[in-house]
Amino acid sequence: MVCKKSTASKVKTRKVAYKRKQHAHSYASRSWRILLLTVRAVQKFSSFKRKNFRIHEKKRIKKYILLKYHNNTKFRVENNSHASQRILNKYHNNTTFRNKIKSRSKIHTLNKYHNNFDFRNQYKARAKTEVLKKYYTNNSIRLKMIQRALNSYRSNNTLITRKSRQLYNQRRRILKKYASIQSHKCTLKHSNLYKQNLKEFRKIIREGPDYVCLSCGLALFRNQVIPFVKDKYINEKISYEIKKHIQSYLKYSSSTEQKWICKSCSDKIKKRQMPSRSVVNKLKVCDVPSELKRLNNLEKHLIALRLPFMKIVNLTSGKLSSRLSQKGTKGPLHCVPSDVEDTVIALPRPVDKSMM
Ligand SMILES: [Zn+2]
Repeated sequence: MVCKKSTASKVKTRKVAYKRKQHAHSYASRSWRILLLTVRAVQKFSSFKRKNFRIHEKKRIKKYILLKYHNNTKFRVENNSHASQRILNKYHNNTTFRNKIKSRSKIHTLNKYHNNFDFRNQYKARAKTEVLKKYYTNNSIRLKMIQRALNSYRSNNTLITRKSRQLYNQRRRILKKYASIQSHKCTLKHSNLYKQNLKEFRKIIREGPDYVCLSCGLALFRNQVIPFVKDKYINEKISYEIKKHIQSYLKYSSSTEQKWICKSCSDKIKKRQMPSRSVVNKLKVCDVPSELKRLNNLEKHLIALRLPFMKIVNLTSGKLSSRLSQKGTKGPLHCVPSDVEDTVIALPRPVDKSMM
């Protein structure tokens, strides 16, 4: 006899089976998760360990190599040569690296040039020697340099340049003269004396009339001026009015530059008098008006209110051109007043009265 199960019991059995299955499944998934987590933790731990190990190893190797570098000469030399070879290769193959090195070395050299006096002098001397060597050995470079100098000489033709060239030529002529005297006339006996005199002469002519008087504004030589000391002329004892007068004779600024005063002005100011050639004694020279600037010598003579007459002599003698030599006046100087009213009215003559 077959015992049939009721529907309710069937449902119950299925529920129980389902629950068992669910329980088993959840257990398995949890186990898997735990396993995965464990594996990950182990991996992380091992990598961390490896990292630490790597750092330690690196440190140890570095220390070892440093020690070896300092103690082992052969190793050091090899290492240096390897490094230089490597850097050279990099320099030749890597454009960015090459440019970086070039710019860095340029900045370094420039800084050194500006800050180090010895280096600058050495650099200049080296550059000069190189240029001279090129000039004397390479014909094309010599020709180019001569051409460039000629062009610059022709293009730079101002009044100051012409003047400086004249002086340069004059100096060369004098030097040539002295050189010829030395080579032909000077005997061994006089040679030392001559050299000594030339040395002294050069020492004397090194300074020109570069000292400007505070009162008269004249450019004078060193032996004609004395250093200006304010307390010598202006002190607490003198009255306010005299002080003001003296201050008006002296045109000085507050700059720290050394100031000079000529002996004549200094004596006069010490006597509380106005120096006769002081600028404030109506001797200030004004600028030439633009209308009169373009006149030639004849036109200037025609409209001059005073005609000075003086004897002008060359202060130097010898073969030197009289045009270039230093001039001086000799004897009395006369200033003749001239009535230019008629001349100014008559000129320029109209075309119909010019008799041309
Ligand atoms: Zn003076």
